Amino acid sequence: MVAPSLPTEIIPANAAGIDRACTILAQGAPVAVPTETVYGLAADATDALAVARIYKAKGRPDFNPLITHVFDLEAAEKLAVFNDEARELAEMYWPGPLTLVLPRREEAGIADVVTAGLPTIAIRVPAHPVMRALLHRYGKPLAAPSANASGRISPTQAAHVAASLAGRIRLILDGGPCEQGIESTIIAATGDGLRLLRRGPIHVPEAAEAKGDKIEAPGQLLSHYAPQKRLRLDATEAGKNELLIGYGEIEGDLHLGDDPVTAAARLFSLLHEADASEAAGIAVAPIPGEGLPAAIRDRLKRAAAPR
Ligand code: AMP
Ligand code: MG
Repeated sequence: MVAPSLPTEIIPANAAGIDRACTILAQGAPVAVPTETVYGLAADATDALAVARIYKAKGRPDFNPLITHVFDLEAAEKLAVFNDEARELAEMYWPGPLTLVLPRREEAGIADVVTAGLPTIAIRVPAHPVMRALLHRYGKPLAAPSANASGRISPTQAAHVAASLAGRIRLILDGGPCEQGIESTIIAATGDGLRLLRRGPIHVPEAAEAKGDKIEAPGQLLSHYAPQKRLRLDATEAGKNELLIGYGEIEGDLHLGDDPVTAAARLFSLLHEADASEAAGIAVAPIPGEGLPAAIRDRLKRAAAPR
């Protein structure tokens, strides 16, 4: 668990509040902000460390890919490839509580930790005036899951956010209660027709419910984001033809850093890099500790599981 230690400001979501939020975002820290669905815990989606701090604050036991929020369709098209069906949905329902999962543009600069290493990205253009003002003023995409500690109910008021995250985040923008109170509808438009990944406020009759091996719910996603190469955990040195990803005092060929937030920020990029290398296998140093380290270990364990 993360020791509650940060002083948490709760301020009105007026112009001064938006300015304050931008300052904190630019410093690489997450801020809680209202959207029309629930309060989100937003961080700069191009800053891997900032996004890793979302996971740290939430105490999430795993790495689900996060939804990236942008101001408009034009900004979304810079991050992902839209086919005609996807564009039609975007034009019909954005701004609003609809998230589209689309092929990701690698060159767009979104941190790998946002998409948990997937070749797809979940994008939404929110309708809430506060989140819109923040996106407009900040000028960069914001990754944001719900602003609650892992396992707690989704927050629809600033007080709910405070109840679970006070001491773990620096700022809550209070914009009153959220209108919808349930999370966005998620639809995948990755080329093979529309598939409903999560039910939500928007009903799209054309989207078939994902089923069987098509499901992309978090559990089923896992095999997709595993590296191709054999992965060995808790390694203190590289074996024959292995590339070692070090942590802390264990150096390795690549290094995750010396602390859990840095390791979380680098994890998916380094796994990609290791997977693309000449080595036959990948070995990873032990990542000891509870909280964020446990989430990293969980991710690695799944990546190492036989498929
Ligand atoms: P939350 O941020 O708590 O609203 O949850 C985000 C949801 O979006 C999770 O259920 C993720 O599994 C899903 N999601 C995010 N990115 C992707 C993706 N690239 N492919 C499929 N599902 C995704
Ligand atoms: Mg959530």
